[in-house]
Amino acid sequence: MKKFTTAILAGVAMTLSLSAVASAKDKVIGVSWSNFQEERWKTDEAAMKAAIEAAGDKYISADAQSSPAKQLTDVESLISQGANALIILAQDASAIGPAVDKAVAEGIPVVGYDRLIENKDAFYLTFDNKEVGRMQAKGVFAAKPEGNYVFIKGSGADPNADFLFAGQMEVLKEAVDAGKIKNVGEAYTDGWLPANAQKNMEQFLTANDNKIDAVVASNDGTAGGAIAALQAQGLAGSVPVSGQDGDHAALNRIALGTQTVSVWKDARELGKNAAEIASQLADGKKMEEIANVTKFKTPGGLDLNSVFLTPVPITKDNLNVVIDAGWVGKDVVCQGV
Ligand code: BGC
Repeated sequence: MKKFTTAILAGVAMTLSLSAVASAKDKVIGVSWSNFQEERWKTDEAAMKAAIEAAGDKYISADAQSSPAKQLTDVESLISQGANALIILAQDASAIGPAVDKAVAEGIPVVGYDRLIENKDAFYLTFDNKEVGRMQAKGVFAAKPEGNYVFIKGSGADPNADFLFAGQMEVLKEAVDAGKIKNVGEAYTDGWLPANAQKNMEQFLTANDNKIDAVVASNDGTAGGAIAALQAQGLAGSVPVSGQDGDHAALNRIALGTQTVSVWKDARELGKNAAEIASQLADGKKMEEIANVTKFKTPGGLDLNSVFLTPVPITKDNLNVVIDAGWVGKDVVCQGV
């Protein structure tokens, strides 16, 4: 009888430990996207989802469709669907605050994805955005070390816009101070929309009688808008333009000579890292214990636990890097060349 009981107890213990393993796997990772306007976000999403599912967890998501208000209800809905951790690409850094506070109050870890969320309890995973800005300016400066520069900045609601601009100015400051470079126009691009970038570029061209020598655009989408405006004036290809993301159309423009540099950020890596970090935080790992974590001093003075990945500048000379990495096909890059 005693033996029998022990066997039953052992069976119970085994069931318990098996179910403990299963529940550690069956976590729900909720991802709140801002919008899928840039093609990169679909790449981020595919990598994130694959890594979450490979770990035996469940991927749930919502897309705010560029609406900061919708993103608040999206996050609430992810919480009520049982998210054990959240990954948030904030459409508007300030507007997202209450949703993050709610998650934190409920003990749900939050990973600020790609864009800064100023909350001491949020993890911050991104590429080094200031470095992206430096790479953009260096690419344009190498092609045109003097003259009239314009700056097509990112969305004012996205802290990345100012990080990028800070990096750009760091590189150009000496030439600006020496009077070699003149900043003849600078504007945020509402919602990062290419159409708004094009409008701003048209205004800069008009205001300067088309005498613009270089365009520091903050991503490939806005670069596309700026290049359309240059094209209309017969200037595409003679004015250097920067971007970032390694969008397929931008890589093709680089091959064709209408864009000078894109900064490639392997979104597959960022997505995978986010999945792993969110899962570890949901399992109770401390933010300070995440691999490669560093402290990042935010503009608001917080010291956030952060992980930064390294960006890579792509010009005509090293297009093979993105092709060899399986990011894009050679046929796509070289179309029409
Ligand atoms: C990202 C860029 C992206 C832009 C617009 C920024 O926060 O860092 O990669 O192009 O948002 O979506």
